[in-house]
Amino acid sequence: MKVRTRFAPSPTGYVHIGNIRSALFPYLLAKQNKGTFVLRIEDTDQNRFVADAEEVLLDTLKWLGLSWDEGVDIGGPFAPYRQTERRDHYIKWAEKLIKKGMAYADPYTPAEVDQLRADAQAKKQAFLYRNYRPENPPKWAPGCGKPLRFKQTKIERKYYHDKIMGDLEAGAETLDDFVLIKADGLPTYNFAHIVDDSEMECTHVTRGVEYLSSMGNYLALYDAFGLKPPIFVHMPHVMAPAGNKKLGKRDGAKSVQEYRNEGFLPEAMLNFLVMLGWNDGTTTDIFSLDDMVDKFELSRVQRAGARFDEKRLLWLNGQWIRRLDIAKLFDYAKDFWGENGKKSTDERRMEVLEAVQERLKTLGDIPALTEYFFARPEIDLAMITENKFISKLTRDEQVNLLEVAILKLEAIDWNTDALQEALNELLTETARKPAELFSLLRIAVSFAPFSPELPRTFAVLGKDESIARLKATMDALAKA
Ligand code: GLU
Repeated sequence: MKVRTRFAPSPTGYVHIGNIRSALFPYLLAKQNKGTFVLRIEDTDQNRFVADAEEVLLDTLKWLGLSWDEGVDIGGPFAPYRQTERRDHYIKWAEKLIKKGMAYADPYTPAEVDQLRADAQAKKQAFLYRNYRPENPPKWAPGCGKPLRFKQTKIERKYYHDKIMGDLEAGAETLDDFVLIKADGLPTYNFAHIVDDSEMECTHVTRGVEYLSSMGNYLALYDAFGLKPPIFVHMPHVMAPAGNKKLGKRDGAKSVQEYRNEGFLPEAMLNFLVMLGWNDGTTTDIFSLDDMVDKFELSRVQRAGARFDEKRLLWLNGQWIRRLDIAKLFDYAKDFWGENGKKSTDERRMEVLEAVQERLKTLGDIPALTEYFFARPEIDLAMITENKFISKLTRDEQVNLLEVAILKLEAIDWNTDALQEALNELLTETARKPAELFSLLRIAVSFAPFSPELPRTFAVLGKDESIARLKATMDALAKA
């Protein structure tokens, strides 16, 4: 079997974590099987249409490195791949059903259908349109302004298999005369995806579990067309952090674009997504996209929803920043430099980035961790007086400690080894705790909440600049 999978998003403008997982799974299945990954745009719901949304989607997928082999922008043997450009295909398929007596025009107005539904509810009955099926429906033709409905002819329990969820069934009560083509002439998702998956020869349907409740209707439609259903892969929900419901915007779930703007890496996002409900059976938790292609198995995806844990994403991001080749990190960092960093040279930025690589959790940390390398920070004595270690020393002791340090450092060669050695000697000579001595020196030159380890910070700042900053801070303290 030649594997063909698809990602079929609706361009609603907001790409969330769940959407991207719906792209990652079929991408991995295609790559593992040397198959084809198709990108189709499902834009038939005009109420949900958002301009630019398609562009954002494509851009996000490219950023993640989930490249497609056929699709909306690049074409392919089954073009077009945008549903609003495929209206004639749906009409052709609809006509096949009409001919078989398996589709009919819905004569009711939406208000009348609502009334039927309200009547059923009043009688405490589940509403099924097929119970109100009109006896002599009018003729349906494209542009007639009436919805076209499917006519269920075999009311029976249906059985099927899902690659993640296992053996499942859909009861007769889930089978209805659902809408195939809406009054506006556009097909419903329920109809269009089956036409498209069939024409595009998709072997797998990968989507969220929310579609399981409609499986009875889908199976009836495959049957009506004499189609062999594809392989079903229904992915469990991504759950809110509290674990009790599906993750929504209100649970603090940001869009993928927001994470990107905050300095999350595509490597970390993908790693995080694949591990929502999957592991490779070992304790490994770092997976590159290539590792995922190698190791991912649907049989190891858990059926229960996996909890969204942003702390884990942050941790993974730090891990990935540390692992990246510095040239790649430098490229990712280009939009994240602070005011002073922007004015500096590539060479200097690279040197500074290497020094802070270990400490970054997101690229958004770059300004706070690097600005003081590019320009002398303002002296902020409160950072010294309020520091929980340094505040244990009297003002005189602080000034004296800086003086001793300056004398020692002025006399050495300026490299990390010599700096490390000098700092160790200073510790012994002054009999201070590392937290006291090193915090004082670190803050005296950076006035930043974080910085690389001290010898590295001094080395990257350079001898003259480091000594000058230590002196300036010492003088300010002495005068304060
Ligand atoms: N357009 C559907 C959605 O965005 C796709 C579902 C599917 O993959 O079949 O939910």
